[in-house]
Amino acid sequence: MALFNQAIIGGSVSGKQRQGGCLCGAIRYQLDGDPFAADYCHCGQCRRVSGAPVTAWMDFNAEQVHWLSGTVTEYASSEKIRRGFCNRCGSCLTYRHLDYPQYTTLAITSLDDADDIAPNYHIYTDDALPWFEVKDDHLRHPTGGKAPKWVASSHSVDE
Ligand SMILES: [Zn+2]
Ligand SMILES: [Zn+2]
Repeated sequence: MALFNQAIIGGSVSGKQRQGGCLCGAIRYQLDGDPFAADYCHCGQCRRVSGAPVTAWMDFNAEQVHWLSGTVTEYASSEKIRRGFCNRCGSCLTYRHLDYPQYTTLAITSLDDADDIAPNYHIYTDDALPWFEVKDDHLRHPTGGKAPKWVASSHSVDE
């Protein structure tokens, strides 16, 4: 969808509300407004944590994210990266960088209506699996470093 343009960078505190959560239902959240970015990440860490060949993420300002029930358990996948999951069902839910506490990234696949938000660029395509091809015309960044600044922090390693 064409929602993710310069006009809404910084997020939207009004507008549509969406809900999502983990597989077992213990963790539920509500989102106010639209994400300011949404990407496919092909890095090996996202692949392992999600169990999928590519992971679809959406980025919000932290104040747009409201936790309704349950508690996300976080794993420190590197010094500054925290990956959140449900400690009951194992669902991959969140990603955050300690240097950017103003942002919360959530797995698009955890939305109740996951078809509602579509990623519109790729990061870490250098790490993409050769047998999994995404056929679209979206921008492809070989690493996270050349991605838009809100994802300039690496998913894979500390920089
Ligand atoms: Zn769960
Ligand atoms: Zn990643």
